Amino acid sequence: MVPAPLFHSDDLRRWRSCERRFWLARHRLQRGEPASAPGPAPEADVALRASFPHADTVAAPQTPSQWLQAMRHTLDCLDSDAAMPEGWAILGACLTSEDRAQVRIDVLTAGEHGLRLFKVRHATVGDDADVDTVALWTHVAARCGFAVQGAGLLLVDTDFVYPGHGCYAGLFREVDLRPVLGSRPVAQWLHDMRDCEHGPEPGATPGPHCHQGSGCEFAASCKACAPPPRSRRALPGGALRLDPAVTALARTWPHPRRCLRFDTIGTAVPVWSGTRPYQTLPFQWSCAVQAADGSWSDHQFLADAQGGDPRRAFALSLLQVLGDEGAVLAYNAGFERNRIRELAQWFEDLAPALEALLPRIVDLYQVLRSHQQDPVKGGSWSFRAIARAVAPDIDLALRLDPALDAEHESSAQSVFALMHRPGQSAAVRQACREALQAHGQRETVVLRRLLALFERAGAEQ
Ligand code: SF4
Repeated sequence: MVPAPLFHSDDLRRWRSCERRFWLARHRLQRGEPASAPGPAPEADVALRASFPHADTVAAPQTPSQWLQAMRHTLDCLDSDAAMPEGWAILGACLTSEDRAQVRIDVLTAGEHGLRLFKVRHATVGDDADVDTVALWTHVAARCGFAVQGAGLLLVDTDFVYPGHGCYAGLFREVDLRPVLGSRPVAQWLHDMRDCEHGPEPGATPGPHCHQGSGCEFAASCKACAPPPRSRRALPGGALRLDPAVTALARTWPHPRRCLRFDTIGTAVPVWSGTRPYQTLPFQWSCAVQAADGSWSDHQFLADAQGGDPRRAFALSLLQVLGDEGAVLAYNAGFERNRIRELAQWFEDLAPALEALLPRIVDLYQVLRSHQQDPVKGGSWSFRAIARAVAPDIDLALRLDPALDAEHESSAQSVFALMHRPGQSAAVRQACREALQAHGQRETVVLRRLLALFERAGAEQ
């Protein structure tokens, strides 16, 4: 009889969330359909290596023979008599316990009185599933005969300022989980998981756990738990019926008028020197300019994927396109205003010109809300909801060609990150560039349609 595959961290995560989910995944695995787990983003990997410059890295095993190799590699590293230098660790240490649990530990280091192990989270806080995982790793390390001195999480420290040149020491802060690990009876869990696996298929237990995180992979076939159909949130009142006074107001907005949209990114691992984790950084502006004769022209800036910090080039090009007169029209304009204020703080020499833009900004969201005739009955005022109302023919989804081996429906942030990935091919970079520029231009078309609606409202009443 072929032994069942060993239990991994993902099995525990599923079992703790829903016994049926665990059972279905284990039986799928036994049918030879392995689940794949995405690896860390390249920038994250670079940051971790920089934090442990003398680390040994154990390659992620996929097959049983690779697991054997990985465990041998781990034990060889731990058996070494040489004194471990500052910054030593094993990244991806692989261990197996006699009670059939097999783990790959993100970071294993040596303390004075034993091993210290850490789960890396590219987030500012951890959750219960992280504690479960660390408890499992601690259990396996102890069962393998190692003294465990410390166990915890490495979380992103938002006070960290990236000095550049790949120096990420200090990006992560340690959170000690030892005080809470005692509440995790891992040995009992493993016993119960074995019983569950060999028992009958558990019934469905629909609940919020079916949709947490990226959702249960069996939700579609687990009918009782299928998520409610996604309904697009309608506009308040269901449609745009505007107070005719909005037309007179719109006519006061001086030419040349600019319809402006920003795209920004905020990554856990900062890419540009002088920036912090999750700092909101602008990388693209899109602007449609209406001259006094009513004609339109399109303008754009998109950061070079291979260039450095794009903020100064962003600010300079923005000042050029916005000039020194005319209304600047944006939706939910607080976002654009705040980014311009931040640019003014970063670049003292540009501050007067950037701050002079602020009084010219008109928030179309505020205008729309204050001139919508129907009473507010809930619904969404998001840019996407407004786009569906004023430009139903325009699809704001950002799609890449599936042939490029990239996610084909994404956010502007994920496409920019894909374009920026080290070693990215020229073809994918170019496709990302074109997709982002087209996306930005479609967004300014929505703003133009909203402006046109304002200008027509008086005549239609
Ligand atoms: S959909 Fe819900 S009840 Fe069904 S297996 Fe998944 S988590 Fe369990």
